[in-house]
Amino acid sequence: RTSQRLASIAPSATLAVDVKAKALRAEGADVIGFGAGEPDFPTPDHIVEAAVAACRDPKNHRYTPAPGLPELRSAIADKTLRDSGVQVEASQVLVTNGGKHAVYTAFAALCDPGDEVICPAPYWTTYPEAITLAGGVPVVVDTDDSTNFKVSVDQLEAVRTDRTKVLLFVSPDNPSGAVYSPAEITAIGTWALEHDIWVITDEIYEHLIYGDAVFASMPALVPDLAGQCIIVNGVAKTYAMTGWRVGWMVGPNDVISAAANFQSHATSNVSNVAQRAALAAVAGPLDEVYAMRTAFERRGTAMHAMLNDIPGVTCGAPEGAFYCFPNISGLLGVDLGGHRAANGLELADLILTEANVAFVPGEAFGAPGYARFSFALGDDDIATGLGRIADLVS
Ligand code: PMP
Repeated sequence: RTSQRLASIAPSATLAVDVKAKALRAEGADVIGFGAGEPDFPTPDHIVEAAVAACRDPKNHRYTPAPGLPELRSAIADKTLRDSGVQVEASQVLVTNGGKHAVYTAFAALCDPGDEVICPAPYWTTYPEAITLAGGVPVVVDTDDSTNFKVSVDQLEAVRTDRTKVLLFVSPDNPSGAVYSPAEITAIGTWALEHDIWVITDEIYEHLIYGDAVFASMPALVPDLAGQCIIVNGVAKTYAMTGWRVGWMVGPNDVISAAANFQSHATSNVSNVAQRAALAAVAGPLDEVYAMRTAFERRGTAMHAMLNDIPGVTCGAPEGAFYCFPNISGLLGVDLGGHRAANGLELADLILTEANVAFVPGEAFGAPGYARFSFALGDDDIATGLGRIADLVS
Protein backbone atom coordinates (compact mmCIF):
# COMPACT_ATOMS: atom_id res chain seq x y z
CA ARG A 1 0.00 0.00 0.00
CA THR A 2 2.87 2.35 0.65
CA SER A 3 4.05 4.43 -2.30
CA GLN A 4 7.10 3.12 -4.14
CA ARG A 5 8.88 6.32 -3.24
CA LEU A 6 8.64 5.71 0.48
CA ALA A 7 8.85 1.94 0.31
CA SER A 8 12.27 2.31 -1.34
CA ILE A 9 13.81 4.05 1.69
CA ALA A 10 16.35 1.73 3.28
CA PRO A 11 16.00 0.99 6.98
CA SER A 12 18.83 2.58 8.93
CA ALA A 13 21.75 0.22 9.51
CA THR A 14 22.34 1.97 12.81
CA LEU A 15 18.89 1.18 14.09
CA ALA A 16 19.51 -2.39 15.26
CA VAL A 17 22.44 -1.37 17.48
CA ASP A 18 20.57 1.64 18.76
CA VAL A 19 17.43 -0.32 19.65
CA LYS A 20 19.50 -2.90 21.49
CA ALA A 21 21.57 -0.27 23.32
CA LYS A 22 18.38 1.41 24.53
CA ALA A 23 16.91 -1.93 25.62
CA LEU A 24 20.08 -2.78 27.58
CA ARG A 25 20.00 0.65 29.23
CA ALA A 26 16.35 0.18 30.13
CA GLU A 27 17.36 -3.05 31.88
CA GLY A 28 19.82 -1.02 33.93
CA ALA A 29 23.04 -1.85 32.03
CA ASP A 30 25.77 0.80 32.01
CA VAL A 31 26.09 1.16 28.23
CA ILE A 32 28.66 3.59 26.82
CA GLY A 33 27.48 4.92 23.47
CA PHE A 34 29.86 6.13 20.76
CA GLY A 35 27.01 6.53 18.32
CA ALA A 36 26.09 10.16 19.03
CA GLY A 37 26.13 12.54 16.08
CA GLU A 38 25.71 15.61 18.24
CA PRO A 39 27.73 17.74 20.66
CA ASP A 40 27.24 16.83 24.32
CA PHE A 41 27.46 20.48 25.43
CA PRO A 42 24.42 22.66 26.20
CA THR A 43 23.66 25.50 23.78
CA PRO A 44 25.58 28.65 24.88
CA ASP A 45 23.64 30.86 27.31
CA HIS A 46 23.36 34.00 25.17
CA ILE A 47 21.59 31.94 22.48
CA VAL A 48 19.19 30.37 24.97
CA GLU A 49 18.45 33.81 26.43
CA ALA A 50 17.63 35.20 22.98
CA ALA A 51 15.13 32.36 22.55
CA VAL A 52 13.57 33.02 25.97
CA ALA A 53 13.12 36.70 25.08
CA ALA A 54 11.72 35.71 21.69
CA CYS A 55 9.12 33.48 23.34
CA ARG A 56 7.86 36.44 25.35
CA ASP A 57 7.42 38.68 22.31
CA PRO A 58 4.06 38.06 20.61
CA LYS A 59 5.47 39.02 17.24
CA ASN A 60 7.30 35.69 17.32
CA HIS A 61 4.03 33.83 17.85
CA ARG A 62 3.28 34.39 14.16
CA TYR A 63 4.50 33.09 10.80
CA THR A 64 7.64 34.53 9.28
CA PRO A 65 8.16 34.68 5.50
CA ALA A 66 8.64 31.09 4.24
CA PRO A 67 12.34 31.51 3.33
CA GLY A 68 13.15 32.84 6.80
CA LEU A 69 13.34 35.96 8.98
CA PRO A 70 14.88 38.74 6.88
CA GLU A 71 17.35 39.57 9.72
CA LEU A 72 18.45 35.95 9.90
CA ARG A 73 18.89 35.59 6.14
CA SER A 74 20.98 38.73 6.17
CA ALA A 75 23.07 37.52 9.16
CA ILE A 76 23.64 34.18 7.38
CA ALA A 77 24.81 36.05 4.29
CA ASP A 78 27.30 37.98 6.48
CA LYS A 79 28.43 34.82 8.21
CA THR A 80 28.93 33.07 4.85
CA LEU A 81 31.33 35.85 3.86
CA ARG A 82 33.09 35.70 7.25
CA ASP A 83 33.54 31.92 7.42
CA SER A 84 33.38 30.66 3.83
CA GLY A 85 34.75 33.75 2.07
CA VAL A 86 31.80 33.79 -0.33
CA GLN A 87 29.88 37.03 -0.96
CA VAL A 88 26.11 36.47 -1.19
CA GLU A 89 22.90 38.48 -0.84
CA ALA A 90 20.26 37.71 1.81
CA SER A 91 17.94 36.68 -1.07
CA GLN A 92 20.32 33.80 -1.78
CA VAL A 93 19.67 32.23 1.64
CA LEU A 94 16.85 29.80 2.47
CA VAL A 95 16.40 29.00 6.17
CA THR A 96 15.39 25.35 6.61
CA ASN A 97 14.39 22.93 9.38
CA GLY A 98 17.96 21.86 10.04
CA GLY A 99 20.83 21.03 7.74
CA LYS A 100 19.16 17.74 6.88
CA HIS A 101 16.17 19.56 5.45
CA ALA A 102 18.54 21.78 3.45
CA VAL A 103 20.20 18.66 2.01
CA TYR A 104 16.87 17.23 0.91
CA THR A 105 15.64 20.56 -0.46
CA ALA A 106 18.87 21.07 -2.40
CA PHE A 107 18.48 17.69 -4.14
CA ALA A 108 14.78 18.36 -4.76
CA ALA A 109 15.71 21.70 -6.32
CA LEU A 110 18.30 20.22 -8.69
CA CYS A 111 17.32 16.65 -9.59
CA ASP A 112 15.02 15.51 -12.37
CA PRO A 113 14.19 11.79 -12.53
CA GLY A 114 17.28 9.84 -13.55
CA ASP A 115 19.78 12.62 -12.85
CA GLU A 116 22.93 11.16 -11.36
CA VAL A 117 24.46 12.48 -8.15
CA ILE A 118 28.03 11.47 -7.35
CA CYS A 119 28.25 10.56 -3.69
CA PRO A 120 31.66 9.59 -2.29
CA ALA A 121 31.64 6.79 0.33
CA PRO A 122 31.87 6.56 3.26
CA TYR A 123 28.86 8.88 3.20
CA TRP A 124 26.51 10.30 5.81
CA THR A 125 23.61 7.82 5.86
CA THR A 126 21.03 10.39 4.80
CA TYR A 127 22.60 11.45 1.48
CA PRO A 128 21.70 8.45 -0.72
CA GLU A 129 18.17 8.38 0.67
CA ALA A 130 17.66 12.12 0.14
CA ILE A 131 18.97 11.79 -3.44
CA THR A 132 16.62 8.89 -4.20
CA LEU A 133 13.62 10.62 -2.61
CA ALA A 134 14.29 13.65 -4.79
CA GLY A 135 14.24 11.46 -7.92
CA GLY A 136 18.01 11.39 -8.40
CA VAL A 137 20.25 8.35 -8.72
CA PRO A 138 23.14 8.09 -6.24
CA VAL A 139 26.41 7.10 -7.88
CA VAL A 140 28.63 5.93 -5.05
CA VAL A 141 32.41 6.27 -5.32
CA ASP A 142 34.30 4.20 -2.77
CA THR A 143 37.29 5.55 -0.88
CA ASP A 144 39.34 3.91 1.86
CA ASP A 145 41.88 4.69 4.54
CA SER A 146 44.79 4.56 2.05
CA THR A 147 43.74 8.04 0.83
CA ASN A 148 42.32 9.09 4.17
CA PHE A 149 38.85 8.63 2.62
CA LYS A 150 39.31 11.48 0.14
CA VAL A 151 38.05 11.13 -3.41
CA SER A 152 40.32 12.15 -6.30
CA VAL A 153 39.44 13.92 -9.55
CA ASP A 154 40.39 10.71 -11.43
CA GLN A 155 37.84 8.74 -9.43
CA LEU A 156 35.17 11.37 -10.13
CA GLU A 157 36.02 11.48 -13.82
CA ALA A 158 35.74 7.68 -13.99
CA VAL A 159 32.05 7.78 -12.98
CA ARG A 160 31.03 10.92 -14.90
CA THR A 161 28.32 10.34 -17.54
CA ASP A 162 25.93 12.50 -19.61
CA ARG A 163 23.47 12.19 -16.72
CA THR A 164 25.82 13.48 -14.03
CA LYS A 165 24.06 16.50 -12.55
CA VAL A 166 25.50 16.99 -9.08
CA LEU A 167 28.55 16.19 -6.99
CA LEU A 168 27.92 15.93 -3.29
CA PHE A 169 30.95 17.23 -1.39
CA VAL A 170 31.51 17.40 2.36
CA SER A 171 34.55 18.57 4.30
CA PRO A 172 35.04 18.15 7.26
CA ASP A 173 33.41 14.80 6.68
CA ASN A 174 30.95 12.67 8.59
CA PRO A 175 31.77 9.80 9.20
CA SER A 176 35.47 9.80 8.30
CA GLY A 177 36.55 13.06 9.97
CA ALA A 178 38.59 13.81 6.82
CA VAL A 179 39.28 17.41 5.77
CA TYR A 180 40.26 18.17 2.16
CA SER A 181 43.16 20.58 1.60
CA PRO A 182 42.56 23.82 -0.34
CA ALA A 183 44.50 22.34 -3.29
CA GLU A 184 42.31 19.23 -3.34
CA ILE A 185 39.14 21.32 -3.11
CA THR A 186 40.31 23.59 -5.93
CA ALA A 187 41.04 20.59 -8.16
CA ILE A 188 37.60 19.08 -7.56
CA GLY A 189 35.80 22.42 -7.98
CA THR A 190 37.64 23.13 -11.22
CA TRP A 191 36.67 19.69 -12.55
CA ALA A 192 32.99 20.31 -11.67
CA LEU A 193 33.05 23.73 -13.33
CA GLU A 194 34.65 22.38 -16.48
CA HIS A 195 31.99 19.67 -16.84
CA ASP A 196 28.97 21.79 -15.87
CA ILE A 197 28.31 19.73 -12.78
CA TRP A 198 26.55 21.28 -9.81
CA VAL A 199 28.16 20.96 -6.39
CA ILE A 200 26.25 20.67 -3.15
CA THR A 201 28.85 21.37 -0.49
CA ASP A 202 27.97 20.52 3.10
CA GLU A 203 29.87 22.85 5.43
CA ILE A 204 28.11 21.95 8.67
CA TYR A 205 31.36 20.96 10.45
CA GLU A 206 33.31 24.04 9.25
CA HIS A 207 34.42 25.15 12.73
CA LEU A 208 35.37 21.71 14.05
CA ILE A 209 38.88 21.44 12.64
CA TYR A 210 41.96 20.00 14.38
CA GLY A 211 45.73 20.06 14.14
CA ASP A 212 47.05 21.44 10.87
CA ALA A 213 43.79 21.03 8.95
CA VAL A 214 42.18 24.19 7.56
CA PHE A 215 38.60 24.71 6.44
CA ALA A 216 38.09 26.00 2.91
CA SER A 217 34.89 26.54 0.95
CA MET A 218 34.78 25.32 -2.65
CA PRO A 219 33.01 28.37 -4.19
CA ALA A 220 35.54 30.66 -2.47
CA LEU A 221 38.44 28.78 -4.05
CA VAL A 222 36.70 28.43 -7.43
CA PRO A 223 34.59 31.62 -7.63
CA ASP A 224 33.14 30.82 -11.08
CA LEU A 225 31.50 27.77 -9.52
CA ALA A 226 29.15 30.00 -7.46
CA GLY A 227 26.52 29.90 -10.23
CA GLN A 228 26.29 26.10 -9.95
CA CYS A 229 26.90 25.54 -6.26
CA ILE A 230 24.72 25.20 -3.16
CA ILE A 231 26.26 25.54 0.30
CA VAL A 232 24.47 23.61 3.05
CA ASN A 233 25.05 24.59 6.66
CA GLY A 234 23.32 25.04 10.01
CA VAL A 235 23.70 25.86 13.68
CA ALA A 236 23.50 22.25 14.94
CA LYS A 237 27.13 21.22 15.26
CA THR A 238 28.83 24.61 15.64
CA TYR A 239 26.66 25.92 18.48
CA ALA A 240 25.53 22.62 20.05
CA MET A 241 22.01 23.27 18.72
CA THR A 242 20.97 19.95 17.16
CA GLY A 243 17.54 20.05 18.80
CA TRP A 244 16.68 23.57 17.64
CA ARG A 245 16.37 22.52 13.98
CA VAL A 246 17.76 25.46 12.08
CA GLY A 247 19.84 25.05 8.94
CA TRP A 248 20.09 26.79 5.60
CA MET A 249 21.10 26.56 1.99
CA VAL A 250 22.87 29.30 0.05
CA GLY A 251 22.81 29.33 -3.73
CA PRO A 252 21.93 31.16 -6.95
CA ASN A 253 18.72 33.23 -6.76
CA ASP A 254 16.67 31.10 -9.18
CA VAL A 255 17.35 27.91 -7.23
CA ILE A 256 16.68 29.56 -3.87
CA SER A 257 13.38 31.04 -5.15
CA ALA A 258 12.24 27.65 -6.41
CA ALA A 259 13.27 26.01 -3.15
CA ALA A 260 11.44 28.73 -1.17
CA ASN A 261 8.25 28.06 -3.16
CA PHE A 262 8.60 24.37 -2.36
CA GLN A 263 9.14 25.15 1.33
CA SER A 264 6.14 27.51 1.41
CA HIS A 265 3.89 24.55 0.59
CA ALA A 266 5.75 21.83 2.44
CA THR A 267 6.62 23.32 5.85
CA SER A 268 6.17 27.14 5.77
CA ASN A 269 8.75 28.88 7.93
CA VAL A 270 11.08 27.36 10.50
CA SER A 271 9.97 27.95 14.11
CA ASN A 272 10.18 31.67 14.70
CA VAL A 273 11.70 31.29 18.19
CA ALA A 274 14.35 28.90 16.86
CA GLN A 275 15.17 31.40 14.10
CA ARG A 276 15.68 34.12 16.73
CA ALA A 277 18.03 31.78 18.61
CA ALA A 278 19.89 31.03 15.37
CA LEU A 279 20.21 34.77 14.75
CA ALA A 280 21.89 35.21 18.15
CA ALA A 281 24.18 32.31 17.25
CA VAL A 282 25.35 33.33 13.78
CA ALA A 283 25.55 37.06 14.57
CA GLY A 284 27.27 36.43 17.92
CA PRO A 285 30.81 35.58 19.04
CA LEU A 286 32.61 32.30 18.40
CA ASP A 287 34.40 32.07 21.79
CA GLU A 288 32.26 29.24 23.12
CA VAL A 289 32.54 27.45 19.80
CA TYR A 290 36.33 27.55 20.12
CA ALA A 291 36.11 26.25 23.69
CA MET A 292 34.01 23.29 22.51
CA ARG A 293 36.43 22.71 19.65
CA THR A 294 39.33 22.57 22.12
CA ALA A 295 37.52 19.92 24.14
CA PHE A 296 36.72 17.91 21.00
CA GLU A 297 40.31 18.10 19.86
CA ARG A 298 41.57 16.79 23.21
CA ARG A 299 39.06 13.94 23.14
CA GLY A 300 39.75 13.09 19.51
CA THR A 301 43.48 12.91 20.15
CA ALA A 302 42.92 10.61 23.13
CA MET A 303 40.46 8.41 21.25
CA HIS A 304 42.76 8.12 18.25
CA ALA A 305 45.62 6.87 20.46
CA MET A 306 43.39 4.45 22.39
CA LEU A 307 41.87 2.98 19.22
CA ASN A 308 45.31 2.33 17.76
CA ASP A 309 46.28 0.53 20.97
CA ILE A 310 43.53 -2.05 20.40
CA PRO A 311 45.01 -5.07 18.57
CA GLY A 312 43.36 -5.47 15.15
CA VAL A 313 42.31 -1.80 14.93
CA THR A 314 44.07 0.95 12.96
CA CYS A 315 42.95 4.56 12.80
CA GLY A 316 44.13 7.77 11.17
CA ALA A 317 44.06 10.98 13.18
CA PRO A 318 40.71 12.78 12.97
CA GLU A 319 41.09 16.14 11.20
CA GLY A 320 37.60 17.48 11.68
CA ALA A 321 34.01 16.89 12.88
CA PHE A 322 33.88 14.67 15.99
CA TYR A 323 34.42 11.18 14.68
CA CYS A 324 37.18 8.60 14.50
CA PHE A 325 36.67 6.11 11.69
CA PRO A 326 38.98 3.17 12.41
CA ASN A 327 39.59 0.16 10.22
CA ILE A 328 38.21 -2.75 12.24
CA SER A 329 38.67 -5.49 9.64
CA GLY A 330 41.34 -7.07 11.89
CA LEU A 331 38.59 -7.89 14.39
CA LEU A 332 36.41 -9.76 11.89
CA GLY A 333 36.46 -13.56 11.82
CA VAL A 334 38.76 -13.82 14.84
CA ASP A 335 38.07 -15.19 18.29
CA LEU A 336 36.84 -12.43 20.62
CA GLY A 337 36.23 -13.90 24.06
CA GLY A 338 34.77 -17.06 22.55
CA HIS A 339 32.72 -15.30 19.84
CA ARG A 340 33.34 -14.36 16.22
CA ALA A 341 31.85 -11.60 14.07
CA ALA A 342 31.70 -12.02 10.29
CA ASN A 343 31.03 -8.35 9.53
CA GLY A 344 30.72 -4.94 11.14
CA LEU A 345 27.06 -5.34 12.05
CA GLU A 346 27.81 -8.56 13.90
CA LEU A 347 30.84 -6.98 15.54
CA ALA A 348 28.78 -4.02 16.78
CA ASP A 349 26.23 -6.45 18.20
CA LEU A 350 28.90 -8.60 19.81
CA ILE A 351 30.70 -5.68 21.45
CA LEU A 352 27.42 -4.24 22.66
CA THR A 353 26.38 -7.56 24.17
CA GLU A 354 29.76 -8.53 25.64
CA ALA A 355 31.21 -5.15 26.60
CA ASN A 356 28.18 -2.82 26.84
CA VAL A 357 29.71 -0.47 24.28
CA ALA A 358 27.79 0.84 21.26
CA PHE A 359 29.25 2.21 18.02
CA VAL A 360 28.05 2.52 14.43
CA PRO A 361 29.33 -0.10 11.97
CA GLY A 362 30.77 1.18 8.67
CA GLU A 363 27.99 -0.61 6.77
CA ALA A 364 25.72 2.32 7.76
CA PHE A 365 27.96 4.62 5.71
CA GLY A 366 28.58 2.33 2.75
CA ALA A 367 32.01 1.38 4.14
CA PRO A 368 32.21 -2.18 5.50
CA GLY A 369 35.39 -2.93 7.47
CA TYR A 370 35.28 0.39 9.31
CA ALA A 371 33.34 1.79 12.26
CA ARG A 372 32.37 5.24 13.46
CA PHE A 373 33.19 6.29 17.00
CA SER A 374 31.94 9.71 18.05
CA PHE A 375 34.08 11.64 20.50
CA ALA A 376 31.23 13.93 21.49
CA LEU A 377 31.14 12.42 24.95
CA GLY A 378 33.04 12.90 28.22
CA ASP A 379 36.76 12.08 28.49
CA ASP A 380 36.14 9.43 31.18
CA ASP A 381 33.45 7.68 29.17
CA ILE A 382 35.75 7.57 26.14
CA ALA A 383 38.52 5.93 28.21
CA THR A 384 36.16 3.48 29.91
CA GLY A 385 34.36 2.47 26.71
CA LEU A 386 37.51 1.92 24.68
CA GLY A 387 39.11 0.15 27.64
CA ARG A 388 36.23 -2.33 27.64
CA ILE A 389 36.74 -3.06 23.96
CA ALA A 390 40.49 -3.48 24.49
CA ASP A 391 39.81 -5.95 27.33
CA LEU A 392 37.41 -7.96 25.20
CA VAL A 393 39.81 -8.09 22.26
CA SER A 394 43.10 -8.76 24.07
N1 PMP B 1 25.35 17.22 7.26
C1 PMP B 1 26.12 16.35 7.93
C2 PMP B 1 27.39 15.89 7.29
C3 PMP B 1 25.73 15.86 9.18
O1 PMP B 1 26.51 15.00 9.84
C4 PMP B 1 24.51 16.31 9.73
C5 PMP B 1 24.03 15.82 11.10
N2 PMP B 1 24.27 14.50 11.37
C6 PMP B 1 23.76 17.23 9.01
C7 PMP B 1 24.19 17.65 7.77
C8 PMP B 1 22.42 17.76 9.46
O2 PMP B 1 22.36 18.34 10.69
P1 PMP B 1 21.02 19.01 11.22
O3 PMP B 1 19.88 18.53 10.39
O4 PMP B 1 20.92 18.57 12.64
O5 PMP B 1 21.21 20.48 11.08
